Amino acid sequence: VCPTGALTEVDHTPKVVRELANPKKTVIVQTAPAVRAALGEEFGMEAGTLVTGKLAAALRRLGFDYVFDTDFAADLTIMEEGTELLGRISKFMEGDKNVKLPILTSCCPGWVNFFETNYPDMLNVPSTARSPQQMFGAIAKTYFANKIGVKREDLVVVSIMPCLAKKYECQREEFSVNGNPDVDYALSTRELAHLIKEANINFNDLPDEDFDHPLGESTGAAVIFGATGGVIEAATRTAYEVFTKKTLEKVDFHQLRGMDGIRSATVDFNGTPIRIGIAHGLGNARKLLDRIRSGEEQYHAIEVMACPGGCIGGGGQPLHHGDASVLTARTMAIYREDANKPIRKSHENPYITALYNEFLGHPMSEKAHHLLHTHYFDKSQSEIIITNE
Ligand code: SF4
Repeated sequence: VCPTGALTEVDHTPKVVRELANPKKTVIVQTAPAVRAALGEEFGMEAGTLVTGKLAAALRRLGFDYVFDTDFAADLTIMEEGTELLGRISKFMEGDKNVKLPILTSCCPGWVNFFETNYPDMLNVPSTARSPQQMFGAIAKTYFANKIGVKREDLVVVSIMPCLAKKYECQREEFSVNGNPDVDYALSTRELAHLIKEANINFNDLPDEDFDHPLGESTGAAVIFGATGGVIEAATRTAYEVFTKKTLEKVDFHQLRGMDGIRSATVDFNGTPIRIGIAHGLGNARKLLDRIRSGEEQYHAIEVMACPGGCIGGGGQPLHHGDASVLTARTMAIYREDANKPIRKSHENPYITALYNEFLGHPMSEKAHHLLHTHYFDKSQSEIIITNE
């Protein structure tokens, strides 16, 4: 059960269908890494079957004008979050007592909602980097809209997510400009499967197709965002090379993988030990945060994902009825996709390099800060209001 999404779960499929039928609108879609490792189950395929190419083909047949990949924005997240991490570590080593460590990942809206509600004294600890879904929306409605000459209000951004909390995330006020959201609608993996069936698309017989460019190109580091430990492994691949100025001989950090609810590992950054913590499931996140607050444990960086297994086990995925073997099969699929990618480090994505050269300048630039970072709110006193919209 998704604790955040359960309060805001609204199926926006009818609105998306209306937008697709409106000739005045350009409708683009992004799809999260975990979706490709689970969607096939809705069409009778075995758990762990990767359907990346069929997913792109199905979205194109549904009428989306451009079929993009949230993985592109996951690479962008690593550029921003990794730079923030290294900045904090460098200041810490220089003796700056004000620097906040460990840095906490911020790409899971279930987790963000959790710490805003339960840890209001720690709001300056998480990374300020927006989630990949929201980075994608911000770049789509500025950089990409300019490229294709479409006005912001005529561009509709739809996301396909394993997650119910993403529906809530894209409605947060700070992720809109004059009332126009960066991401207009988030559909879950199950809702997409339903839409494909309603449209009489024979999913199993579809050919494999590629995502469109420029927001469809991604690396293996981005794909592993879908599994617990993946975000911090992706960040480690880039942070190691930037920090040490050396090329990684092996990009697989097996010590960061696995299904234990709380995990720790130390990664050697060429003589500098970097201590990393990982938690999935909010009960485990609470235990880990309480240990940090009490001083019992010390880390440089921590990844938290609200769902067991990370996004592969998200509340919008095909139901797995608590079968751990399904989560394991999806996780293995994610790592297979990573291993088969020609580029496996976010900072080597040529389309990310072009985005910085043409538009953003450099990671953490003023423009990047404005478009790709956020701030958090004390929600410990908030009342929960349940609405139908
Ligand atoms: Fe959503 Fe993934 Fe977080 Fe679950 S772990 S709430 S699916 S972002």
